Amino acid sequence: MSARPAVQALPAYRPGRNPADLARELGVDRAVKLASNEVPFPPLPAVVQALSATAGETYRYPDNGATVLTAALAERYGVAPEQVVPGCGAVMLCQQLAQSFNDPGTGLVFAWRSFEMYPLLAQVAGARPVPVPLAPSRPGGAPDTHDLDALAVAVDDTTRLVFVCNPNNPTGTAVRRAELERFLDRVPETALVVLDEAYREFVTDPGVPDGLELMRGRPNVAVLRTFSKAWGLAGLRVGYLVAEDPAVADAVRRTHVPFSVSSLAQAAAVAALASEDEVRRRVAAVVAERDRLTAALRGRGLEVPDSQANFVWLPLGEPTAEVAAALEARGVITRPFAGEGIRVTVGTPEEDDLFLTALGDVRTGAPVA
Ligand SMILES: *Cc1c(COP(=O)(O)O)cnc(C)c1O
Repeated sequence: MSARPAVQALPAYRPGRNPADLARELGVDRAVKLASNEVPFPPLPAVVQALSATAGETYRYPDNGATVLTAALAERYGVAPEQVVPGCGAVMLCQQLAQSFNDPGTGLVFAWRSFEMYPLLAQVAGARPVPVPLAPSRPGGAPDTHDLDALAVAVDDTTRLVFVCNPNNPTGTAVRRAELERFLDRVPETALVVLDEAYREFVTDPGVPDGLELMRGRPNVAVLRTFSKAWGLAGLRVGYLVAEDPAVADAVRRTHVPFSVSSLAQAAAVAALASEDEVRRRVAAVVAERDRLTAALRGRGLEVPDSQANFVWLPLGEPTAEVAAALEARGVITRPFAGEGIRVTVGTPEEDDLFLTALGDVRTGAPVA
């Protein structure tokens, strides 16, 4: 049996390193994983409580419409429930978007480097991936930010979907209100612009717009958010789409894999929303640590773009893979993009100090302990 050529061409799944295995292999007390952009906190107490309360119901199928969660999100954002679509992680909503809007041969436009899923979505849907290179955010710097003018030029009448990841994964940079509004004004109504705001909760720059506000009055704009990052529910798989036009939400609902948002995920998300004060405190701690980590790296002469997310980007270029391997040999797992740079998730101060020490050793060529 052979799979579709488009599927054969997909990269095989490579599991990330597990810190416990790495620590054992290296013979050290602990290894740290700063690779997947989770927050470094245990689940919220209200989430643990909701999970145990829901455990007794898991012999039944979940509510396929996620009614309670949908209503909670609609109320939170002042939109109608018809505009909200929960999904099994924002990544599955990305897949649903491509399935719902991209006929074979139509265009799917995105910046590159950005979230790794975007080109793969196009490939599986038989759509045409249109990557648009990032531009430097500072003169002479590495390309690390959306080039919205080039992105607008890349959109044509075959384009059905445009992803704008804001802040951008993996570079952490964010586009600002005026330039994003100008871009949205230029995109034809036949292309849906999805603002992927997986890291919105970590944004501190008031010039970076809230996609849900920008969306108002623009029927071809939708916003993606997730409970995996700031809200700490990565292992439960739940995200959501909010669309200005209920018809967009309806189209995405039609490609929903039945029951793919579990009852545990739904209950946990509702409980997390009700714990917003605690989430805000946690996010503030991550942001303070992000700023400390950025300053420490810049203090060592490294180029680090301003991050509005819970990770920082080191545009190391050619030695990227070698540096990441050397960090791993010192018990620190990061996320390298060979030839481009390393993305480092903001951890606890202690984890980040381990990373900074390991990086210092790598750069001075100190032998592995
Ligand atoms: C992490 C992430 C997501 C979504 O993750 P889920 O866990 O599937 O909700 C979406 N977009 C970007 C850019 C991300 O980094």
